[in-house]
Amino acid sequence: MYWQEEIETLNRAQLEALQLKRLQETVARVAACVPHYQQEFARRSFRPDALRSLSDVRRLPFTTSADLRAAYPAGLLAVPLDNTLRLHTSSGTTGKPKAIFFSRQDIENAAELCARSFVMTGVTRQDVFQNMMTYGLFTGALMTHYGAEKVGCLVIPAGPGNSERQLMLMKDFRTTVVHVTPSYALYFADFLEKKGIEPRRDLALRRAFVGAEPYTEETRLKIEEGLQLSVFNSYGLSEMNGPGIAFECEQRQGMHVWEDHFLIEIIDPATGEPLPDGETGELVMTTLCREAMPLLRYRTRDITSVIPEPCACGRTHRRLNRIKGRSDDMLIVRGVNIYPQQIERVLMSIRGIGRNYLIRLDGLDEMTVQVELAAGGFNGEFEQLMSLQTRIAERLRAEILIKPRVELVQPATLPVAEGKAKRVVDNRRL
Ligand code: ADP
Ligand code: ZN
Repeated sequence: MYWQEEIETLNRAQLEALQLKRLQETVARVAACVPHYQQEFARRSFRPDALRSLSDVRRLPFTTSADLRAAYPAGLLAVPLDNTLRLHTSSGTTGKPKAIFFSRQDIENAAELCARSFVMTGVTRQDVFQNMMTYGLFTGALMTHYGAEKVGCLVIPAGPGNSERQLMLMKDFRTTVVHVTPSYALYFADFLEKKGIEPRRDLALRRAFVGAEPYTEETRLKIEEGLQLSVFNSYGLSEMNGPGIAFECEQRQGMHVWEDHFLIEIIDPATGEPLPDGETGELVMTTLCREAMPLLRYRTRDITSVIPEPCACGRTHRRLNRIKGRSDDMLIVRGVNIYPQQIERVLMSIRGIGRNYLIRLDGLDEMTVQVELAAGGFNGEFEQLMSLQTRIAERLRAEILIKPRVELVQPATLPVAEGKAKRVVDNRRL
């Protein structure tokens, strides 16, 4: 099923011609009215008419989150403030947030791309869409809300948390699709188990759109098993509209990026040099249709690769592999580079342990992984508990090359996030 078949299946040559035209327009616009880009262009003696092919994008400057922070609160606006309709912010971890402005057309486009993404997974106007993401400054809930309304779904703006109420809504209104973070989805699966709810028997859930933070294939399986539905990976970032930037189709083999709206590159995060399709590096995105706040070569810090092969669904927009993590999430522990997702992958594949965990770094360079036991607790022998602990530590060592301390804790004792989960607590004195 398509939302906009013609554009979703446009042949590559036409799609790239459209991208070039839109890139030229975008660059001409920022050159005319965004001081930040005017200065960057002047510094490199770059003239917009030098953009003749898509690969010329490499002559443009990168935009970083530091540039966005420096521009706070006015933003890198390309239109008078009067023509903006909405402000969102992206938190990041420290200091001031990044201010992202949208015009009426920008909001409309974001909603269209969400609708496109949903229909691609098989959603129709018959669906009941329970939005368990945070409404507010975060783009995650609002943009998908509009997208689902465009499709004609019944939308329930539940927001996150309050699992009892979520369950009531799901039962009473026969929810078929949920939009949720991976951490809350795992927590909710535990909650249903404790309540003795059999999703397939007691609920009408068919699909979950899961994103807003990195998660592994093993976590996808855990969510699918716990909620008894199909999980579709959903990627986005506020700087580029929010959700609906890249989404899985019914094949669920990587996420199609809507290339008529975004130009993507993969670079080596250390050198900034482009990497060929298939190689893993940092995703860089340029907006092609943004009116209020176009961004050139925005460094997402998200680590992934492009799947160049055509997809069986017939769409021509290229796919991204699952995000491995953010380049700034990488931990260096005793000289070894570790992504939290490597630890998650191991934990989610071991039986007998629950769905919540926390990575703690203390002292000089000590790593402790706290893991909840499976719901219902542990009723075996103390020796069995010790051997489970040892097994987890061994499996972790095989994956991350160092052996962390493993602490098994009672179910439902680790902190639960309603929005994005905080999986790493770093108290090191380095
Ligand atoms: P912030 O978290 O900085 O406040 P956003 O809410 O815009 O900003 O979050 C965007 C970020 O969330 C992305 O850059 C990426 O790191 C992460 N993210 C979003 N969706 C996914 C996904 N499906 N898989 C992995 N990471 C994701
Ligand atoms: Zn596809």
